[in-house]
Amino acid sequence: MAATRTFSIIKPDATRRNLTGAITKKLEDAGLRVVASKRIHMTRDQAEGFYAVHKERPFYNDLCAFMTSGPVVVQVLEGENAVLRNREVMGATNPADAAEGTIRKEFAESIEANSVHGSDSDENAKIEIDFFFKPEEIVG
Ligand code: ADP
Ligand code: MG
Repeated sequence: MAATRTFSIIKPDATRRNLTGAITKKLEDAGLRVVASKRIHMTRDQAEGFYAVHKERPFYNDLCAFMTSGPVVVQVLEGENAVLRNREVMGATNPADAAEGTIRKEFAESIEANSVHGSDSDENAKIEIDFFFKPEEIVG
C-alpha cells in the first residue's frame, strides 16, 4: 500500500515540558516519518480558523486560548495508513480513556491539554496540511 500523509501538532502543554523529542520518537516508532516540521506560536486567528469545526462546542474558546498559550510544533507525517496509524499512537482524546503505550496516556495532562493533535480523515489531513505548510516545505 502506498504511503499517505497526516497532520500533527505537538501542543503547548507538551512543548512547555520539553517533550517534543519524546513525542516525535513515539511517532517514529509507530512507523511514521516526519516530512515537515516547524515550531510556531499560533495566532488567535490561526487557532480559531484551524478549530472552526468546533466553533459551537462549549470548549472552543478555552481551546483557542490554550493553543495560543505557548509554542507548538506542527508536523506532516508520512507512512502507511498515516491518519489511522497516528490516531492509534495518539490515544483517546481524554487521557483517562487512552490505551497503555499511547502518547496521551503517557503524556497528556487533561482532556484539553492532551499533548497532540492528529487529523481524523485523509480529507481533513489535506486541509490541515495546507493550512500550515507550503508544498515546498514538505520534503518526503
Ligand atoms: P481529538 O483531538 O482527539 O480529535 P476533538 O477533535 O474532539 O478530539 O477535539 C479537539 C480538541 O479539543 C481536543 O484534542 C482537546 O484538546 C479539546 N477538547 C475536546 N473535548 C474537550 C472537552 N470536553 N473539554 C475540553 N477540551 C476538549
Ligand atoms: Mg479532532
